[in-house]
Amino acid sequence: MAIISKFECNVCGNSYKTNRGLKRHLNIVTKYNVSCPDLDTLPENTIQQFKAILVHYIHKQLPKGSKQLEKQSVSVPATESQFYAIFKNYIHYYSALKNKYKCIFHGSSSNQLLAVF
Ligand SMILES: [Zn+2]
Repeated sequence: MAIISKFECNVCGNSYKTNRGLKRHLNIVTKYNVSCPDLDTLPENTIQQFKAILVHYIHKQLPKGSKQLEKQSVSVPATESQFYAIFKNYIHYYSALKNKYKCIFHGSSSNQLLAVF
């Protein structure tokens, strides 16, 4: 019997053939969450206000009453600084080319994927 070892990222579910592959992926993810020096640092109350708006906005976009087990994708208009201030540490994917971030949130019964363009 062959033992198939799989190294899986428990956030995005990507699997890698080797532990090294997974480590590399996690290293890249960590780098996304280290503050970019060229972004403005927003005052704390601005961040809080924006957070409140964002929560409202996301709730409006999510389908009502559905017990979804699938990923939900929500687009939110925000400046890069605003986005970064709030989603830092949750960023799991970043494309410099498209200036696109992806954050993955885990609910108790579902994975929620939030992408901001
Ligand atoms: Zn991952």
